[in-house]
Amino acid sequence: MIKKVEHIGIAVKDIKESNKLFKKLLGKPHYKTENVESEGVKTSFFKVGTNKIELLEATREDSPIAKFILKKGEGVHHIAFEVDDIVAEIKRLKREGFKVLIETPKKGADNKLVAFLHPKSTNGVLIELCQERTNKE
Ligand code: ZN
Repeated sequence: MIKKVEHIGIAVKDIKESNKLFKKLLGKPHYKTENVESEGVKTSFFKVGTNKIELLEATREDSPIAKFILKKGEGVHHIAFEVDDIVAEIKRLKREGFKVLIETPKKGADNKLVAFLHPKSTNGVLIELCQERTNKE
């Protein structure tokens, strides 16, 4: 089951500058930063009510964020939905005809397991599914 919009991911060129900008916009600073080596991104998170804004800066030229910015410029990169059972949701969405980019959920930022749906199957919006990781893993 999809529970809520967990966060909105925004691709930025310079996360330090964007942290300042979003601090001004939201009236409070980001509460954490995290590098996701496997994706070649540096992230920072802001809380907005029960939702979050995730800023993403590429750390390598072959990072998906670098490619995104090259093609489209800075801007909204993905919308993340929190799910209660990511494996079940991947199965359900595949059955519904969505194109799943990662069949096996992987470790993302913010202690989450993540998977993505291809924008071609979701009206041009990259969709992230995320589930809080438990201590068992
Ligand atoms: Zn995200």
